[in-house]
Amino acid sequence: MSDDNSKFDVIVIGGGPAGYHAAIRCAQLGMKTACVDKSLDDDDKPVLGGTCLNWGCIPSKALLDASHEYMKAQHHFGTIGIKTGKLSVDLKQVQANKGEIVKKLTGGVAALFQGNGVKAYAGSGKLLAGRKVEVTPHKGKAEVLEGDKIILAPGSVPVDISVAPVDGKLIVDSKGALEFDTVPKKLGVIGAGVIGLELGSVWARYGSEVTVLEALDDFLAMADQRIARDAKKLFTEQGMDIRLGARVMSAEVKGRQVKVRYKDKDEEHELSFDKLIVAVGRMPYTEGLLAQDSGVNLDERGFLYVNDYCETDAPNIYAVGDVVRGPMLAHKGMHEGVMVAERIAGQKTEVNYDAVPSVIYTHPEIAWVGATEEELKKSGDAFNVGSFGFSANGRALAANDTDGIVKVVSDAETDRILGVHIMGPQASELIAQAVIAMEFSATAEDLGLIMFAHPTLSESLHEAALGVGGHAIHMINRKKRNK
Ligand code: NAD
Repeated sequence: MSDDNSKFDVIVIGGGPAGYHAAIRCAQLGMKTACVDKSLDDDDKPVLGGTCLNWGCIPSKALLDASHEYMKAQHHFGTIGIKTGKLSVDLKQVQANKGEIVKKLTGGVAALFQGNGVKAYAGSGKLLAGRKVEVTPHKGKAEVLEGDKIILAPGSVPVDISVAPVDGKLIVDSKGALEFDTVPKKLGVIGAGVIGLELGSVWARYGSEVTVLEALDDFLAMADQRIARDAKKLFTEQGMDIRLGARVMSAEVKGRQVKVRYKDKDEEHELSFDKLIVAVGRMPYTEGLLAQDSGVNLDERGFLYVNDYCETDAPNIYAVGDVVRGPMLAHKGMHEGVMVAERIAGQKTEVNYDAVPSVIYTHPEIAWVGATEEELKKSGDAFNVGSFGFSANGRALAANDTDGIVKVVSDAETDRILGVHIMGPQASELIAQAVIAMEFSATAEDLGLIMFAHPTLSESLHEAALGVGGHAIHMINRKKRNK
């Protein structure tokens, strides 16, 4: 380890989930580590945690949880015998609560850096040739750091579409949609992806009339299609008007309204909204990141090109998280960050890209890991399926929360679990059991032989696994085979 203040064993650019995990793990492994991040909070103070903690996963979950409580109080309390007076939403307090949660977590990352000896630099990091990083602070002069290894973790930014230019007031991206100070009466959302559905849910629960315009004809094409069908029906009942095959052609601010024109297979339509959220995907954020001679290459879609171990084309330069191939999920980036740190330390860590869980935090939640039936049919692999509905699960019934199913898909020959698909209460938590099972190459029978506590939501996973062999207890047996 060098004593020179500008020399480090590892320099990480980006302090989001992928970058801060990499930095902390490097420091834990005894490396002199720096992390450069340029984010500023609402008070223009440097802040760690990236999009996830500041403008993504965490604040959106704070709003989802708060709005879900409101929805329960409105529509559910009466059924279970709780009487309330007239309910109302104090949005200022909702937002203040969200801000406190974010502050706690971002402050936590700063404390972890300090505790582990990671040196944080507030400013923009640019990779120069020769493993040098130029750091331009928010105020003052740039300095150049030198690292034996560099890890790039700059994250991603929302995709802009020219037909709906974000103005930050009436037309907003996912960040702006977390910051409304009044509940829009009519809310338009472009894109029925994860962000569109989560943010659409929040504002629908608070009373917005939500219309979601999705260009594709399929709803949640990446998920199990039975679950996608059921989810669309439920979300529609919850007040989201989801229009598929609806390609937005223009969005224009006129006075205090946004006029949106879209086209479906039949004709053109015009709608008027108080606010419009553009949620059409995210793209790798590489602006100003690389000097021309850095040696790092981009792939044809603009992601930093890396191999399975997150090594770029330049020796000793790695890239992790949303800026590289694979799903844009915080936990995938975290794992890549830890893998790179451990590989730098000489360990043989790998990321199992076949066991990355996906979650959509609607209600009910949707979560899955591994292959869908549709994918297996396409590839011609023979498989068996067991499924079990929450409507027959005692714990779900006791909680009056019975929408959804668990589906276990296993290899027809070996019975090894190939995928698990859940829609239901706490699907985000339940999916971890499936990931563990898959990481240990479990068969559906293995899961069936394990004892699950009663009454729990997890029993639906158990029953679905038993269902693969045709012997779920709380279901009329019907063994289903597919070739
Ligand atoms: P997405 O890719 O999931 O969905 C965007 C949708 O917009 C697509 O279905 C696309 O067909 C549609 N679209 C694109 N252009 C359109 C147009 N002109 N008119 C109508 N529809 C159009 O993207 P997202 O929801 O913005 O999310 C971005 C990324 O962030 C994703 O990779 C997602 O996985 C990640 N994310 C994950 C979570 C989570 O894990 N819960 C939460 C938020 C975001």
